[in-house]
Amino acid sequence: MENAVKNLSDALKIKTVSNRDAKKVDWKEFDRFLKFLDSNYKNVSSTCEKRIINKYSPVYIWRCKRGNKKKPVLLIGHYDVVPVEESTEGAWLKEPFSGEIDDNFIWGRGAIDDKNAVIGLMEALDSLIAAGVEPNERDIYFAFGFDEEVGGTMGAKEIARAFELEKIEFEFVLDEGGCIVYDMLEGLGNPVALIGIAEKGSSNIRITCESAGGHSSMPGRNTAIGKLSRIINNIEKNPMPDRLTITAEEMFKALAVNLPKQKRIFSNIDKLFPVIKGKLSKISALNALIRTTIAFTQIEGGDAPNILPKRASAIANLRLLQGDTTDQAIEHIKRVNRGIDFKIEKLLVEEPSEISDMNEKSFNILKDVIASEFRIGDILPSHEYKNRSVGIVPYLMMGSTDSRKYYNVCHAIYRFYPLYLEKELYGTMHGVNERIPVERFLKMISFYKALIKKI
Ligand SMILES: [Zn+2]
Repeated sequence: MENAVKNLSDALKIKTVSNRDAKKVDWKEFDRFLKFLDSNYKNVSSTCEKRIINKYSPVYIWRCKRGNKKKPVLLIGHYDVVPVEESTEGAWLKEPFSGEIDDNFIWGRGAIDDKNAVIGLMEALDSLIAAGVEPNERDIYFAFGFDEEVGGTMGAKEIARAFELEKIEFEFVLDEGGCIVYDMLEGLGNPVALIGIAEKGSSNIRITCESAGGHSSMPGRNTAIGKLSRIINNIEKNPMPDRLTITAEEMFKALAVNLPKQKRIFSNIDKLFPVIKGKLSKISALNALIRTTIAFTQIEGGDAPNILPKRASAIANLRLLQGDTTDQAIEHIKRVNRGIDFKIEKLLVEEPSEISDMNEKSFNILKDVIASEFRIGDILPSHEYKNRSVGIVPYLMMGSTDSRKYYNVCHAIYRFYPLYLEKELYGTMHGVNERIPVERFLKMISFYKALIKKI
């Protein structure tokens, strides 16, 4: 068995589960993980500069010894994982922290999010050093967060701050993100690699309505629950305006080439948008690409069947499109609810990320390495064009990753997993039976090696 496979398996046995409440974290496991990296990647330890940021984030710097250096590149990942929900434990076919290896898979929480990337990068770096390779023309940085799943404020944010203090600017940053997909998007003629070039914002707000309360036998006309319901209804009936952002436009155009049926429409999306936006809005995945969405997720009010509550409140999650802000979304909510009195509080504010430039040289490096490492036939052996490379599609991420913390030190941030995932495996991320096919993990390593050599 390949050493790399055993290393990932061992890494999955370490329970680096993060939690918003730092007191609930078992920090001994995080210490164990750091020791694990030290003792398994001796070439890295002996060759690279190592720093630990905020106790648990390792940063490795592989220095280029030649002069006339170019801007460094940063490759990142996170080694914390989400917990395994107790109610789902019985549904796991292998123990979630067993790291079990069978004929096809390496099993365990973190196998595709994101220890595969952390270990994949370390394997690639270690073996390149062993082979006598040296950085060509720039320093290469590796940095691993330890709280991505709970916001990244202790890990990635602190690492980015340390870089900023040192005035380091990166040519590009590569993080987890899109992967290679085929069955996840209906109508694709061939597999495509999704490269995240921007992330929507994600803010939470609470809307509260008050009223006099009293007995339910003589209700007034403006009960707290009644008002709150009208507000929610008004917002659902009047979504934020739609807009074709540059990210969505590039995504539709790149998809067009790979979607035989929608080719004509998508390749002319800039002209046809006003005509087809109604249709796009009806498909939730596409609707989310063209507007800020407001989703009510929690509601509270009243604790007896015969008492009118004095207050009723609801929490909404706003997913903000580039160009919108949390304040603008709040203005919209007020506008469509004129005449109703209510209060809005911001609970969490995470504005949309910048959009990374796709014309940068670094985007092309990434594209070239994907093209040379991933052929259609690797994924669909009997495809008519099996020797062609998979398609490349820039896209807008709906969720957030550590990468957004690095905009202070880089404007070309790309989010991509060099990994093909079908719907079924993708669904195991944060879910049950998370696992990675052995050969696809080895492919990740070979991708990282090729990329590192090219930069
Ligand atoms: Zn992740």
